Amino acid sequence: MKSRAEGHAVVLGAGPAGLFAARVLADVYGRVTVVERDDPADEQRRGVPQSGHAHDFLARGYQIAEELFPGVGDEMVADGAHPADVARDVRWVIGGHPLVKSESGLSTVISSRPFRERHLRARAEALPQVTLLGGRDVAGLSFAGDGSVVDGVLLGPDGSEKLAADLVVDATGRGSRTPVWLEEQGHGRVEEEKLKVDVGYATRFVRAPADAFGGDVCINIVATPDSPRGGSCQRVEGDRAVVTLYGVLGDHPPTDAEGFNAFAKSLAAPDIYEILQAAESLTDARRYRFPASLRRRYERMDSFPGGLLPIGDAVCSLNPRYGQGMAFAAMQAMALREHLLQDGQKPDGRESDAAAYFRRLTEQVVDPVWTMTQLSDLSFPGVQGERTPETLQALELVGRTQIAATLDGPLTLSCLRVFGLLDPPTALMDPAIQERVQETLSRLPA
Ligand SMILES: Cc1cc2nc3c(=O)[nH]c(=O)nc-3n(C[C@H](O)[C@H](O)[C@H](O)COP(=O)(O)OP(=O)(O)OC[C@H]3O[C@@H](n4cnc5c(N)ncnc54)[C@H](O)[C@@H]3O)c2cc1C
Repeated sequence: MKSRAEGHAVVLGAGPAGLFAARVLADVYGRVTVVERDDPADEQRRGVPQSGHAHDFLARGYQIAEELFPGVGDEMVADGAHPADVARDVRWVIGGHPLVKSESGLSTVISSRPFRERHLRARAEALPQVTLLGGRDVAGLSFAGDGSVVDGVLLGPDGSEKLAADLVVDATGRGSRTPVWLEEQGHGRVEEEKLKVDVGYATRFVRAPADAFGGDVCINIVATPDSPRGGSCQRVEGDRAVVTLYGVLGDHPPTDAEGFNAFAKSLAAPDIYEILQAAESLTDARRYRFPASLRRRYERMDSFPGGLLPIGDAVCSLNPRYGQGMAFAAMQAMALREHLLQDGQKPDGRESDAAAYFRRLTEQVVDPVWTMTQLSDLSFPGVQGERTPETLQALELVGRTQIAATLDGPLTLSCLRVFGLLDPPTALMDPAIQERVQETLSRLPA
């Protein structure tokens, strides 16, 4: 039986999920090939139209990036990114009120998304096991025998070139064609869950005097049901700032300069508008529309081939409002690593036991994060979805906790740990935390 060290893993897509996956696969497989349709060096890749918009890198994502690529944060900072403590250097505004600032020890690095990806890619490519094939389109999967095993991928516009693989990891993002390829092969169609949120983004790069930020590196004005428009203004590499505005349920920011500024002015706090007033514009605004969060329930399929594992947005694409996608991809890569190290190969040496992988992925990563974002989305009355008595109770609790967090440092930290995917949302239900919420709110004037 061929050992994994003699084997070849192929990763489809060189986005964050593909890069993190390549890194964990390189610990196990002798050869890892990442196939990417775009030219990876292109700063505005067609395959990731969202990459021109502000991208938070949540604390959990940064932590995993440092674990997988030690020192990558320092490399980014040396190259012009801004280091940040998420509670001290990021101004969070919820319902018009800033969260309490403090030193949290929870770190991240603020940069544009292409910059961050470039650094992660350089580290992945530097691994001796990893080869990146840029400008190559994956046209399909190669199935062996009766179709129960994937033994490679088909490249080129007509899929005529086969790249053999012992394991294929699909990280081609939300537009992944795995559902179609599986159906064509007789495995049935994967069930999809969607939650319509219709978020619209508009983003402009500007140059603003450093003192316009009041010492902060990032300002996040979070949309809430009472004030359903939000924005993020981040100091990024190249002495620039990226300003992203968003609105939900069809209330989208305009891209003309006047409309963009007016939308910024309408947010629950003036902070971003004031920076725009002091800033020089570097680009026109570009837009992005995100219709619905999407979850593919691979774990429920009765038939799934060996040798294939999807990851990242290909499995679950979350409402971008919460800035979770890259951290979520990193967490999924850690579940992939545990799967490879702990769940073992199939008895015939073929990769891999997909059911065990999906169980791990679902329980450890996707279920908790999906539940949390769904809950936040359902706090907006216009979002269609079932609101059970438990949902309403949880919404009430989270709403009260967030209000209290604008008044109390320890509660701010508890909330930021949950927003940063370091703690599950259930952490906020801890009786000691809820006692503190109660006590904090009781000090408010009636
Ligand atoms: C407007 C917006 C704002 C966002 N803001 C944030 C944020 O603040 N923080 C955050 O963490 N996340 C954010 N996200 C989410 C984040 O962008 C995604 O979750 C993340 O990119 C998912 O990574 P991925 O690697 O799974 O997929 P992708 O980044 O989509 O990468 C998929 C890759 O596969 C390649 N590919 C596709 N098809 C093929 C093929 N057939 N052959 C070869 N290659 C192929 C593509 O070119 C691409 O490089 C935001 C998303 C949007 C839409």
